[in-house]
Amino acid sequence: MGATGAGKSRLSIDLATRFFKDSEIINSDKMQLYRGLDITTNKITTQEQQGVPHHLLGVFDPTQSVITPNEYRKLASKTIINIVSRNGLPLVVGGSNSVIYSLLAKHFNPKLDVFNGQNPDPISSELRFKCCFIWVDVCVKVLDRYLSKRVDEMLDKGMLEELKEFFGSGENLRVKRAGLGQAIGVSELEGCFSNFGRAKYGKLYDEGVRRIKENTCELAKRQVGKILRLKAGGWDLKRIDATEVLRMSDSGGGKVAEIWEEDVVARSVNMVKQFLEE
Ligand code: ATP
Repeated sequence: MGATGAGKSRLSIDLATRFFKDSEIINSDKMQLYRGLDITTNKITTQEQQGVPHHLLGVFDPTQSVITPNEYRKLASKTIINIVSRNGLPLVVGGSNSVIYSLLAKHFNPKLDVFNGQNPDPISSELRFKCCFIWVDVCVKVLDRYLSKRVDEMLDKGMLEELKEFFGSGENLRVKRAGLGQAIGVSELEGCFSNFGRAKYGKLYDEGVRRIKENTCELAKRQVGKILRLKAGGWDLKRIDATEVLRMSDSGGGKVAEIWEEDVVARSVNMVKQFLEE
């Protein structure tokens, strides 16, 4: 678990390739459930997956479906049970805490909202599965700086072109607004990729990019808020601080890999080993 940009995907691949070889990953990012917009939603690439099996990643047609938390609960629990029956280790990886909650709460009621509003409904502290929760955390200031840089990198990789192409095909114009249509970047850059859109590098584009950065940082804060809510509700989340890793990579320090190993990987491995021995 953790905010966007904290390093969840990378950690899961390190755990799966180097320490727990029978691991399979189940995506728990709401936007990454759908096919398409891989750069915009920041999906792990096939190369980065390093052969580790991934489930519920980019598999649903965004023009046909909006996956509800209740549906996710059914699909992901079935996947977990299948993996366990093969003696595999299921790793649930992603930043959408509402779907993680829907999957793991013993008593999940889709009508209740345990995260939002003045008086959110109580968290179910009982779980359906035995879990080892690893929360990769990064201090807000450092994460914000990193996220802003990451948005620029996503744009360099072709995010606007991806959006233009995706919505340029008549088919995808019917993309569900309640599903993939909600991804950060869609509404912010709409004026630039729609038929009447202006060229890149205009005022509209600059404003869109500014809003993407702002909304991404807001998303990260909301995600941490939800994690703290789960923790307060009795979920035993183990926090790992990855701040130094991002700080070092920002300042171009050469010790990034070392710090990642010590601060994040080694600590997570110990936590999982201990959990598996219990
Ligand atoms: P909410 O209660 O708002 O539904 P949630 O925990 O169910 O929150 P989040 O994953 O926090 O789900 O996503 C909330 C919103 O953040 C999404 O609707 C989307 O706008 C944006 N978002 C989340 N993940 C991504 C992503 N991978 N790419 C782009 N935008 C995203």
